Amino acid sequence: MLQGKTALVTGSTSGIGLGIAKALAKQGADIVLSGLASDAEADALKSELSDSFGVRVGFSGANLTDPDAIEGMMGYVARDFGGADILVNNAGVQHVAPIEDFPVSRWDLIISLNLSAAFHTTRMAISGMKEKGWGRIINTASAHALVASPYKAAYVAAKHGIAGLTKVVALEGAEHGVRCNAICPGYVYTPLVEGQVADTAKARGMTEEEVKRDVLLAAQPTKEFVTTEQIGDMAVFLCSAGGASMNGSIIQMDGGWTAQ
Ligand code: NAD
Repeated sequence: MLQGKTALVTGSTSGIGLGIAKALAKQGADIVLSGLASDAEADALKSELSDSFGVRVGFSGANLTDPDAIEGMMGYVARDFGGADILVNNAGVQHVAPIEDFPVSRWDLIISLNLSAAFHTTRMAISGMKEKGWGRIINTASAHALVASPYKAAYVAAKHGIAGLTKVVALEGAEHGVRCNAICPGYVYTPLVEGQVADTAKARGMTEEEVKRDVLLAAQPTKEFVTTEQIGDMAVFLCSAGGASMNGSIIQMDGGWTAQ
């Protein structure tokens, strides 16, 4: 379905981004992986995807908190792959602390990676998409784009911000064949959440199992983690002909969390 297209997926060396990259590769898209990984890790992932799906796979180790590094990554995608037809803004980190103790450096990091990086990649990719008359921009937001939780000031602010950015880009691309949507997962068991479980267990004096059941999945009525495969399937749908009228949608995939 996606032969001849290139998908740049930020933060795709693990977790949700890797799940999306695999799902798009399975549909025949060439893939540019991105993330903070060693050369050996990046090479292993590139081989895994190209061997499994028979597509071309590139990698950028750009630190996406740095606009100049983002420009370098976008230049590489333009030169070596003819630009991104599909852009998945997914890289993100979390920090959990009461606002009065929230480290300023963590606030700055989360806003620049979880929000500003998507602005930079989008502003650099959208002209090429408009010229081709086809483009898909998918932002990995979160249930925290719609509701808040305590101790996550920067993350919730950035995710609400990305929901707004998604709607603006959807309007600007609408008449040029470009679609922009946000996927809002509830809890997905990835390295990001593993770290959060450990931090929360320490902060609240609970076991990790108690944190999973009573803190994380307490808000998720299905009591099941969302899977990276399910999110990959949603990304594929958004790139399919059936998804062509999806534009500016803030799509909850949270087991009913935000229905409450
Ligand atoms: P993860 O920790 O598994 O992956 C994060 C990715 O981002 C990795 O590839 C990492 O190398 C990359 N990255 C981190 N800092 C970077 C930087 N400075 N520059 C470039 N790349 C960087 O996390 P995940 O759980 O897969 O999260 C991916 C996205 O999904 C994030 O935006 C997160 O907010 C969102 N999300 C996660 C969950 C969840 O429960 N895991 C739920 C909702 C939304």
